[in-house]
Amino acid sequence: MSVVDRQEWDVVVVGAGGAGLRAAIEARERGARTAVICKSLFGKAHTVMAEGGIAAAMGNVNAGDNWQVHFRDTLRGGKFLNQWRMAELHAREAPERVWELETWGALFDRTKDGRISQRNFGGHEYPRLAHVGDRTGLELIRTLQQKVVALQQEDHRLTGDYESRLKVFQECTVTRILKDGERVCGVFAYERESGRFFVLEAPAVVIATGGIGKSFKVTSNSWEYTGDGHALALLAGAPLVNMEFVQFHPTGMVWPPSVKGILVTESVRGDGGVLRNSDGKRFMFDYIPDVFKDKYAESEEEADRWYDDPDHNRRPPELLPRDEVARAINTEVKEGRGSPHGGVFLDVSTRMPAEVVKRRLPSMYHQFKELADVDITAEAMEVGPTCHYVMGGVAVDSDTAAARGVPGLYAAGEVAGGMHGSNRLGGNSLSDLLVFGRRAGRYAAEYATGTAAARPRVDDGQIGAAAAEALRPFSAQGETGEPAGGPPENPYALHQELQQTMNDLVGIIRREAEMKQALEKLAELRGRAGRAGVEGHRQFNPGWHLALDLRNMLLVSECVARAALERTESRGGHTREDHPSMDRAWRRINLLCRLAGPSDGPAAGGPAAADPARGRIALTRETTEPIRPDLLALFAKEELVKYLAEEELYE
Ligand code: FAD
Repeated sequence: MSVVDRQEWDVVVVGAGGAGLRAAIEARERGARTAVICKSLFGKAHTVMAEGGIAAAMGNVNAGDNWQVHFRDTLRGGKFLNQWRMAELHAREAPERVWELETWGALFDRTKDGRISQRNFGGHEYPRLAHVGDRTGLELIRTLQQKVVALQQEDHRLTGDYESRLKVFQECTVTRILKDGERVCGVFAYERESGRFFVLEAPAVVIATGGIGKSFKVTSNSWEYTGDGHALALLAGAPLVNMEFVQFHPTGMVWPPSVKGILVTESVRGDGGVLRNSDGKRFMFDYIPDVFKDKYAESEEEADRWYDDPDHNRRPPELLPRDEVARAINTEVKEGRGSPHGGVFLDVSTRMPAEVVKRRLPSMYHQFKELADVDITAEAMEVGPTCHYVMGGVAVDSDTAAARGVPGLYAAGEVAGGMHGSNRLGGNSLSDLLVFGRRAGRYAAEYATGTAAARPRVDDGQIGAAAAEALRPFSAQGETGEPAGGPPENPYALHQELQQTMNDLVGIIRREAEMKQALEKLAELRGRAGRAGVEGHRQFNPGWHLALDLRNMLLVSECVARAALERTESRGGHTREDHPSMDRAWRRINLLCRLAGPSDGPAAGGPAAADPARGRIALTRETTEPIRPDLLALFAKEELVKYLAEEELYE
């Protein structure tokens, strides 16, 4: 094996989206020498695609807003399964994080009196999303990058080297977290362009790799969201929590086929857009669930009055949490009232003047004009559900973002679980990234400093094993003869089959028999993925990269399917046709996924030593910690009765 380049850092942050950059800035500011490593180009993370805004109870547009109301909305959206301490920290700290961004140069849209403007979004009681048109993520990333550059300039002045204390490794993929005993000691990675392997040694690693959408066929997520961080954490011994909760955003494009799944931001509805079926009916009034009945308008007249007078009218039902709207659209289409291309109609053209649409929703205007030849100022859009976000993720400590059971491992952003419960409210991700990115950076830096006397060490054996694992797809293609168990497999074909399986069998509406079928199919794909083979060499070879990503997507998909089969109720982003109601007994139960067996078994991409049909994920139930009484006191008892079991109410 060739000699692998090794570098020493204090903290390594995997991922350069909002969570990763905020973590890196914090770690560096607290004195830790910090490396950031990202799979795509620096600046091209998912965060840059975020459109609608950052949720933070600043009360700029409605003075009634405060952290307690935000906390309440977040718990209602998550159907009370949220890790409540995270939801509390998030609601309390989000405004400070937004103001901080402004001091670092972010330019938000303003109210008439010059404050940061805030817009309405589903599930938020007040206008709460700080935004920059419908390009908020771009401004967020631009600002964080600018801050990184400012810190590097400061380092240059002090040390003569821009990258002495904060360095970005772009277009590099991490395939393994390395450990010294129980403790984290670094990461193993390859450079996508050259295929060169290298190791970043560090006592603390922050995972901030985003979502898992590419395991599903119709998704708003881009190529790099293959659940890498989720899988890396599992392989390192950390559990994932509540992976059954996957958010299907109600409004993705449905036509033409090449753009199916691309997001249509919720701001369209927040700014007044309405959903209609093929009969022209505003159907959402028929889908207000009992738990939300007193908060949403019963007539179109009341809903329309709310935009001008929110204090004396109830919200339009188009602004229900995403899971409710996605299910409603699904039903309309299934019952034959869909649009020509299998969605429903989303209309702003009859709701606001053309110049307002172009000013408030510039990206949507261009997206539909260029991709679908539809002028949204003159005609309705066709939209349908698209896999968008995963609520499940690495089980972390609420305050420190430390991954459970693996000293030195931290997780923040979409890859971390718990914060959003069973369903995330729009806008709550960007604020989550900032709040918990900062916390992860802080505690990772502190932990790293504490290891100064006895830093963990990377041993050569682990590096060799990681390199051998990464090279296996080349030997599957015949260099060493046909692989055991059958002919080599094409990674692209395997990926397509996986996406179709997850879409059809573990999608928006789930059934027991289908999920069992999905698990069988995943077992088959796991076996075949062990033989995924590629041709050519290591210099920029996307087939090879995908063959490596398959390990992660298969592990994560199994977690989703197993947990979804286990949870026999419907809640948030998990809908069971055979168990259609929310069950109060399940509110206190978290499902934890752990790797069963060695981390180099077949699903993990290791030699096919074990029977792939057994699966690689072991599931356990865990009772959640009771919600703190002062937080429960923020809700009326009549509301709590809808969610909490008798004994909890009694307690
Ligand atoms: P990301 O921004 O996804 O970044 C992940 C990083 O990890 C990337 O740098 C990637 O290259 C890197 N990475 C992944 N795997 C590896 C690996 N193996 N090795 C090295 N690096 C790796 N949320 C809101 O709150 N408001 C919105 O308005 C909003 N709009 C959205 C619009 C769209 C179209 C989409 C898709 C999402 C939207 N979201 C929104 C959700 C939000 O953007 C994401 O949840 C959030 O940006 C995730 O941020 P993150 O920092 O966790 O990860």
